[in-house]
Formats: sequence, C-alpha cells, structure tokens
Amino acid sequence: MITFAKDFKRAAARVTADLRHRGLIQRALKSYEVKRDEFKGRYQNWSEARQAAAEIKWDAINHLDRYLAEFIAKLEARGTRVHVASTGEQARDYIVQVAKENAVRTIIKSKSMTAEEVELNEALEHAGCTVFESDLGEYIVQLRHEKPYHLVFPAMHLTRDEISDLFQKELGSEPTNSPEELTMIARRVMRQNYCRADMGISGANFAVAETGMISITENEGNARLTTALPKIHVAILGIEKILPKLEDLALFLPMLATAGAGQPLTCYNSLFGGPRQPGEVDGPEQFHVVLLDNRRTELLADAEQRDSLHCIRCGACLNVCPIFKNVGGHSYGTTYQGPIGSVITPHLRGLQNWKHLSAASSLCGACTEACPVGIDLHHHLLHNRRNAMKEKPLWWEKIAYAGFVFLMRRPLLYRISGKLGSIFFPLHKLVNGGPLDPLISWTKTREFPPLAKQSFQEYWKAKGKKEAPHGLS
Ligand code: SF4
Repeated sequence: MITFAKDFKRAAARVTADLRHRGLIQRALKSYEVKRDEFKGRYQNWSEARQAAAEIKWDAINHLDRYLAEFIAKLEARGTRVHVASTGEQARDYIVQVAKENAVRTIIKSKSMTAEEVELNEALEHAGCTVFESDLGEYIVQLRHEKPYHLVFPAMHLTRDEISDLFQKELGSEPTNSPEELTMIARRVMRQNYCRADMGISGANFAVAETGMISITENEGNARLTTALPKIHVAILGIEKILPKLEDLALFLPMLATAGAGQPLTCYNSLFGGPRQPGEVDGPEQFHVVLLDNRRTELLADAEQRDSLHCIRCGACLNVCPIFKNVGGHSYGTTYQGPIGSVITPHLRGLQNWKHLSAASSLCGACTEACPVGIDLHHHLLHNRRNAMKEKPLWWEKIAYAGFVFLMRRPLLYRISGKLGSIFFPLHKLVNGGPLDPLISWTKTREFPPLAKQSFQEYWKAKGKKEAPHGLS
C-alpha cells in the first residue's frame, strides 16, 4: 500500500520539476482546447447534448442486466462466441486459449484500454505469441516498452525527434522530423504485420444492445485492418460500454470525438456484429467478444458512485486536470490516468492501495465540467477519501479528527486555540524546511497565505450583532 503511494509521490515530484515535459504537454493541450471549443460551438446546445448523453448512460447502466442479455443474444445469433469474464485473469485465459486452439503465433492489436487493464499482451507473449500494436501511439510506446501515457494519446509525452530516434534505433530508419515521414515508416512495418497476423484483437468504444454490435471509432484505419484481415477477431470490452439503441451513436460518436480529441467526428467509425456470414466475401471466420466485469459490478452496486460507469473514456477530464498536466500520465501507475482513473482505480484495484490518487486533486471541478456525460468526478474523489478514512483510518488521522471534534464542541477552547495559533503561526517560518515543520510539504513550494488580522468573531463583534449576514439569523 505504502509502495504505490510512495511511487506516485516520487514520480510526481520528478515529473513536476521537469519543465520540458510540462511545456510539451501544455502546448499539446492548448491546441486541443482551441479545437474542442470550436467544435463544441457547433452544437446547438452542448449542455443539453451532455444531459441527453448522461440520461442515456444512466438508462444503460441502471438496466445493465437487460441490455447485456439483449446484446449477447443478438451477437450469438450471428455466430459470435461471447465470453463473460468476471476477472482479468479469466479474460486473459480465454483469449490465450483461443490463440492456442487455433495455433496462433502472430497477433495484431488495435488500441484497447481494457486489454491494458488485464495485461493481455504480457499473457499472450508468455504463451509464445508475438503481439504487434497497430495504433501509431501504442506502437511507439510498445517499442519503448512503456505503458500508454494517456487514455486517448498514448505517446503524447514524446517529441518528433524522440520518435525519430526511436525508429532509427528499433527500425533502422533515417532520421526525420516530418510527421508524415514518421507515419510512413511505421506504416511500412505495420502493413507487413497485418498480413502475417493470425489473430486481430480490438477493444470497443460502444456496445449496442439493440443490434448486438460493437462500435469502434478511430482516426488511423488500423482497427479496420486489425479486425478484417486476420481469420480470428477477438474484441475485449468492459460491460459498461453498453448503449441501448443504434441511434444513440448519433449522439455519442461526435461527442466522444469532440470532447476527447477536438474533432467533429473521428475519421473511421465501424460496427461489428459477427463473423463472416454465408455469402459475404470478407470478415473474420471467428468472432469472439469478451465482456469484462473485473469489479465493475461492485461499482454498479454502489449507488453513490455508480455513475462513474457512464465513462466513455474520452480523456477530456485528463486534458483539463491541473494535476495530470503537471505529474503526467505515467506517474499514476494505473491503466486509467487522471481524474477518472483516480475515481475508479480504488474500486478496481483496492481502495486502501490506491486512495492516495483521490488525495492528488485540487478539487477545482474542471474534470466534472469537462466530462461529456456529466460524471460528478470531483465529488467522487471526496467520496473515495471519506470511504478510505472510514474503512481504515491512519493513526494520525484518528488523532487529528478526534482533536478537531473536541475543539469544535468547545467554543471557548476553540477561540483560545485560534488566538494561540495566530500568535505562534509566524514561528513556522523558523523551522521551514526542517523535520519539525508540520507544514513542510505545503510550504516547500508555496508561500502560506497571510493570516487575517481579525478573527470572524472579532469582526462580527465590531460590526454589531444586529446586522445578520445573508442566510444567517
Ligand atoms: S470521466 Fe468523463 S471526461 Fe473523463 S474520460 Fe470518462 S467520459 Fe471522458
């Protein structure tokens, strides 16, 4: 437990001090913000669209049993093999089994955060398969043996020069600073990988219950090739990806593109409903859909935080989060970074081990405001803090809160301690930087705001008791 928190603090301190990294992320996000606002402005009413999206997701999540059953029945009727995995291990085992039964050696994979969540690549490689990522950003981080940096932009933390150096080293290409040339280098390698792959693995952005189809939205066309060329297609997705109706995509596809990438719509939007049917000339011979629970149903049972299952993984909350912009995606040490990661990781991986993420927030509410499906993210961070404290308070938390309650119940003592505090507070500067300073973490990089010269009690007395402020009597 202490290790995860310590790792996070160490990584966050290192990355925050890296001005080059900060500049890179802020420049990238500036241009995203301009585009996002431009395309948000094209909606007749963005807030109403948001409200409609939240209501559709509410319906989907609150009737998940019914919609999942409908989705599975429709898929199976067209010959899809559907596997419901309670845990990450079950999902991995099933896919490894499919690979073994079909003597799969080479796998091409399009972007899937759910596959990252269950560490699918590692399991398949352990079973003797070679896995190639086909999304450009994912391919770059795979070559660097890194995890994705961001839900939507996995290689956002790298410059063109760094990518060029990587390609020179790993692929033997010539140095170049041109994005087009870098893309062409990767493309030449990937084309060969598509042709020799025995299996294609994808994620899914949405699962449409009404038609029994998964929807994949992307900009590079790699998901289409990944799912169409190999003879086996395996899609892995969380059970929360359900949408009730096909027409819901008319709202969710543009919304995901606008909020997530500052685009009106992504370039390629595909629906997959089963393996190749009689009379069809292309498509995979086998289509497997793995529906992952992995503690999502526990979150579903939590009425207070259930709406975090509405998430469509657009990444908008990361893009506006002051913590993410400073500490970067890798510091979190989680599959899902930023505010949504801090909300759901304690549910998916254990509250006590990951509660520190909920404390790494300014509670500014920018994430909640940015979320296209209106998840109350910053309040959920507070809920996690409260739940962690309730479940297993630390010794100093017990003392601090007991002291606080003791003081608040004794007005005279409260007044005296306020006075003493204002007299002795300036002394903290004498020990600033030393081990005795209780404010050390805070004052290391900040000036503590000056204390008010007058307490509220003194102010109130001076003002006269007759004039009551608004809302008080
Ligand atoms: S919580 Fe909202 S803003 Fe964040 S990734 Fe999910 S849908 Fe997007």
